[in-house]
Amino acid sequence: MTGTDVNDLTEMPGDWQRALAVVAHPDDLEYGCAAAVAAWTDAGKEVAYVLATRGEAGIDTIAPDACGPLREREQRESAAVVGVDTVEFLDHRDGVIEYGLGLRRDIAAAIRRHRPELVITLNHRDTWGGGPGAPWNTPDHVAVGRATLDAAGDAGNRWIFPELVDQGLEPWNGVRWVAVAASSTPTHAVDAAPGLDRAISSLLCHRAYIEGLTDEDPEQYVRTFLTAATSRASDRFGGRPAVAFELFGR
Ligand SMILES: [Zn+2]
Repeated sequence: MTGTDVNDLTEMPGDWQRALAVVAHPDDLEYGCAAAVAAWTDAGKEVAYVLATRGEAGIDTIAPDACGPLREREQRESAAVVGVDTVEFLDHRDGVIEYGLGLRRDIAAAIRRHRPELVITLNHRDTWGGGPGAPWNTPDHVAVGRATLDAAGDAGNRWIFPELVDQGLEPWNGVRWVAVAASSTPTHAVDAAPGLDRAISSLLCHRAYIEGLTDEDPEQYVRTFLTAATSRASDRFGGRPAVAFELFGR
């Protein structure tokens, strides 16, 4: 089919100033979102990152107590490449994050601290891509994605987690959208072209992780991966490379 189609991805809303991205691990944002983040910070918007863990269980050959600080450092470097200076860690345990009130409370607190209009998170559904044979998602992504969708509402109600008000965190009812990256049913997109080179540099900052993952040349691996990822939805976005999101309103 050619021309405009009901399946076309809509341009992401641009009438906002502050976004907060909440994900489980270092590298979750760099595996697809960073090109959109670069475009937003170029436009003068503020973006902050909150990570539930330090990714300390992410590299088979490096024990968690050494891995956590290493991955934290790599995450801060990769954020800076796309114009993000605020990176916070909630210190849940990598690999065994539990969906529940504790996680919702921690994310609601982060939303109240940062007061975003747009919240970003990563695929909270059971699989990547949907359809037969789709790869199973990890429990950390499912827990953090769901808790983030829930916490966007929790953040606005003073009677949910009243202890946050006691800590000086007044309700924030200003979240207008939650955008889920790497969803199998995206609705919106950001043009990835202007930020793609920085997205590649940003993912390359996770060098220890990538070297543990593949024997390929890291630069080649990252460029191939992100070029393919941003091409996937381009036929629904006027042929432009795209960072696609499933957008939930509030
Ligand atoms: Zn992850």
